[in-house]
Amino acid sequence: MSLAVRAVFAGFIREGPAFRRLLAELESHQSWDARAIHAYHEKALARVLRWCADVPYYSGRLAEWGLGSGPALDALARVPLLDKETLRLRNMEFRTRGWRNRFAHEGHTSGTTGKPIRCWRDGRSIVFENAALWRVFRWAGVSLSDRRALLRGDLVVPASRGEPPFWKLATPNQLYLSSYHLAPRHLGAYVEALRRFAPAAIQAYPSSAALVAAWLLECGETLPVKAVLTSSETLLDAQRDAIERAFCAPVIDYYGNAERTAMIARCEKGAYHVLWDYAVTEFLGTGDDGSEIVGTPLENRAMPLLRYRSGDRAERAPRGERCPCGRSFPVCGRPEGRRDLYILTPDGRRIGRMDHIFKGLRHIREAQIVQKAVDRIVLLAVTDPAFGEPERELLLRQTRERVGPGVSVTLEIVEAIPRGPGGKFAAIVSELRGADVAHEEIRP
Ligand SMILES: [Zn+2]
Repeated sequence: MSLAVRAVFAGFIREGPAFRRLLAELESHQSWDARAIHAYHEKALARVLRWCADVPYYSGRLAEWGLGSGPALDALARVPLLDKETLRLRNMEFRTRGWRNRFAHEGHTSGTTGKPIRCWRDGRSIVFENAALWRVFRWAGVSLSDRRALLRGDLVVPASRGEPPFWKLATPNQLYLSSYHLAPRHLGAYVEALRRFAPAAIQAYPSSAALVAAWLLECGETLPVKAVLTSSETLLDAQRDAIERAFCAPVIDYYGNAERTAMIARCEKGAYHVLWDYAVTEFLGTGDDGSEIVGTPLENRAMPLLRYRSGDRAERAPRGERCPCGRSFPVCGRPEGRRDLYILTPDGRRIGRMDHIFKGLRHIREAQIVQKAVDRIVLLAVTDPAFGEPERELLLRQTRERVGPGVSVTLEIVEAIPRGPGGKFAAIVSELRGADVAHEEIRP
């Protein structure tokens, strides 16, 4: 589908009456109390369990798990967790029998390992997804009629193009920019294109927005917008800081996945919120690197999933913690993608939140940690001309402090950080194989 056709089609969904009704309904949920939320979960979940009777994977198991009688949330607790591998291997069994829908859509996971998982979505769930997203965008005052610049992995121009323009106007209000051509020598042209378009909001991969932000700050400039909307990669603290300073706006970061099993979004006050009406979200286990996000989506009849293990993590917040924004959504820590999880050390430690090693370093545009072996790490960094020996030493020291003396650490200054599937940036890449890999989740 071309960008223009896709933008018009998306506009049809966004502007449609069903969408507007749903958005108003979702916005009314923001002031609900615990009792109303519980009642909503019971009703929505009971409907999902009824849908499961038409899903080959679930239909034979409903009686065994005692579903269909008593409170739905209690019933859900009896359902075993569903992992990614089961969904991958038995993919077709999760598609609702006889399900047909004119506005249906087949998506898939970006598949960093093995075969991508096919995900079927019905028309209502597509509209619901858009409404849920727009509710979040509106937290920062971004409205449907605002001009948006999109910088997030779309193939806007051929990868082989060597000179600007690397952008295209899809509709009068949407400028798509390529996130594959953000070389330092082109950043000035990107900024010029953005200034000409004058977006109210920028929707971007954190890494892409951070590159433009770093360039602006280096030039002593800013480019004020209402909000920068980021997703699809873990938003690192240093990226967030640069983006907020350069664009003079809050970063509204949101987490979701292709399986649509949870949505978590950072509000304009800086707290991450679990959107309770999107899915029943559980945080599984506790560890240094947070808990696993497990979700039961409440809206997709085409492919119901119960207690799906996303492989992604977030810290569970203390019960009852409230955000000054006053919305009804519980607070949690920053979600982290499985690709950005942790590095493994020879003594068996798994170290997450590695972005702390870049604290206090002002002249690194972006960086990646590559684990070459269990005892060897290479830091790749794109630096600006002011990067010098003191920062190099600080970076190596801060890394060694975290990984310990058993791991050799080297720094390579590079022109650009290679991107993964879908043009996504990964903060940590693990090249460990075989016996070194203690856990499936740390493969790149
Ligand atoms: Zn908040």
